[in-house]
This record gives sequence, structure tokens and C-alpha cells, in this order.
Amino acid sequence: MARLTTLKPAMQAQPSKLATVNPESWRTAKGTAAQRGYGYKWQVARAEWLVANPLCVYCQREGRVTAGSVVDHIVPHRGDMKLFWDRGNWQTLCRPCHDVVKAAEEAAGQIG
Ligand SMILES: [Zn+2]
Repeated sequence: MARLTTLKPAMQAQPSKLATVNPESWRTAKGTAAQRGYGYKWQVARAEWLVANPLCVYCQREGRVTAGSVVDHIVPHRGDMKLFWDRGNWQTLCRPCHDVVKAAEEAAGQIG
């Protein structure tokens, strides 16, 4: 704790530097993107998947043709690497559909 108090004045002295850090950025999340499994290997696999499966599956169900930009895990992997890399568990979503799914998952997660 003593170390923290000595750092504080230095941080306050550089408000402009701190202001450039987006609090929503991956740096402030739990670990880096790579540490959470979303490393280079994922970027490559994800890009390949989107080339082969370019359309949002939820929009397709609704009769819409929308280019997807997110590879979503149908069953939330929650850190399970088997589920994470199982392409049978992947689906392409557009950003709006993905946000709806994630909101529903988070709501479900709060229940149990
Ligand atoms: Zn969609």
C-alpha cells in the first residue's frame, strides 16, 4: 500500500497521458486479449471462418442477408478451450445480433 501512495502524485501530475487511455479498452479488461484466448491463433481462425461463413446466422433466420463481423460461440466457452476451438460451436453474427446474444447470456449468467 505504501508503494501505491507514492505512485499517486506521479499519476496526478500526468493527467493528459491518462486521459488517452480508453477505460473500455482491452488493456483494462482481465488480462490481455491473448491471455483470454483471443490471441493471434484466434485472429487467424476467426478470419478464415468469416471468409467461409460470411453471413449473420440470426439475420438469415429472420430472412435478412447481413454480413457478419463476429464469430460467436453458440455454447459460451467460459474459458473451456475445447469449446472455444470447436468449430461446431461457432456461428457468424453481425454486431447488433451479437450484442443481443451477449446481453441475454449475461442476464442468464446472473441467475446461475
Ligand atoms: Zn444479425
